[in-house]
Amino acid sequence: MNTYWSRLKLIFGLSLILGQFAVIREVHAYTYYITLPNNNKIVWPTKSLQYHVANGSFPSGSASRTALTNVLGRWNESPGDFTFLTPIWDNGTVGIENEESEIWITTGPCVGALHVGTIEWNGSSAKWIESDVIFSAFPFWKNPSIPWSMNSDIQTNMKVYGGPAEMWEPAALHEIGHALGLAHTNNTYNALGAHFNHVQVNCGRIRSYVGEDAGNGSVFLYGPTNVFFNYDLGVTHWKYAEPSGAYSAHSLTQIFTSGGGTVISSDAFEGVRRYYVQAGTTYKVQFTYENNGLWPESGFTREGTFKLKDPGLDNHLPENWITSSYMLVLNTTRIDKLNQFIVYPNPSTGPLTIQVTDFINKYAEIYNIMGQNLGRIRLNESGTTNIDLSQYKSGLLIIKIGSVHKKIIISGF
Ligand SMILES: [Zn+2]
Repeated sequence: MNTYWSRLKLIFGLSLILGQFAVIREVHAYTYYITLPNNNKIVWPTKSLQYHVANGSFPSGSASRTALTNVLGRWNESPGDFTFLTPIWDNGTVGIENEESEIWITTGPCVGALHVGTIEWNGSSAKWIESDVIFSAFPFWKNPSIPWSMNSDIQTNMKVYGGPAEMWEPAALHEIGHALGLAHTNNTYNALGAHFNHVQVNCGRIRSYVGEDAGNGSVFLYGPTNVFFNYDLGVTHWKYAEPSGAYSAHSLTQIFTSGGGTVISSDAFEGVRRYYVQAGTTYKVQFTYENNGLWPESGFTREGTFKLKDPGLDNHLPENWITSSYMLVLNTTRIDKLNQFIVYPNPSTGPLTIQVTDFINKYAEIYNIMGQNLGRIRLNESGTTNIDLSQYKSGLLIIKIGSVHKKIIISGF
């Protein structure tokens, strides 16, 4: 019997190449790839993956190798039944579509971190056959003055806390999430959203982590492991803020008066807001509590989060917590940011409309996936600009206005 498999690439975890694939958004806080029209999820045929990792990029004893080992270990700790095997530290050449799943760092022009997945598809179902994760030597390839912080976990070194470096581990954790088959998520605080502030901090040290929602996604795709660690509650001072395109944007948690009013933060300390409060006055303090996806499913509604029953109770004891809705606990007021814009349709055969919220920047810059600037487009003051990029067939492009990037797919049919 003949079965034909076509080979397609899914880049960045983005979807919809040739119209046969889609990202499905669930009420749960994860997204994944499906084949149309049957809605089959795209998974690996075996529940494990062994990367070939470029020795030159991740030499023995280096910070980068320690960091990568940490990241693969974090996913192995998550409750989905999928294992990243100890990598083969490889001196061979690397490349996409070479039948080998590989991880490497390039000094060439490249966006900060990139996942290129290759699938085989037989017309109704598809499977992953290759995963390549490529890191630029710098998180922002156009600004080499900002370095990656590999496995240094010092809070004050990190850009989100006022330091000089961008964290590599959360970025790698995000890309490995794509390797499992998870797509971007924009409706919760999520590792598959904005990764650079999806971290836990304790006593000045940072830890990257998968988190509850991406962990649930791994269970959805591969079933649960048999190992459950019930008391794995994670606490962080980052929270869901708003959708930012396909990503969730995160912001710092806040302090409120007992009546729910805003308490103004007066200054920052190590990148974190500092509040001056009156002695003897009661305040409400936000945290994000997650079970990292390992808590047994029964008894918890997926859209819930944890809340202490009473601020006076001991927060070490599980019986003092109740679940509560995200909307109640997290202040989800949406504020349009400067430079926000939308591009549609995406994917497109070429014609695109760019719509900006505020006419702050006169130009949109177009980049290809290698980070080469393909040109700039003058934006109309009306806020709506129509362009045609059909000359860049079958490609992934990046449109940048001010500091905001959007990825778009130009499909070649
Ligand atoms: Zn991504």
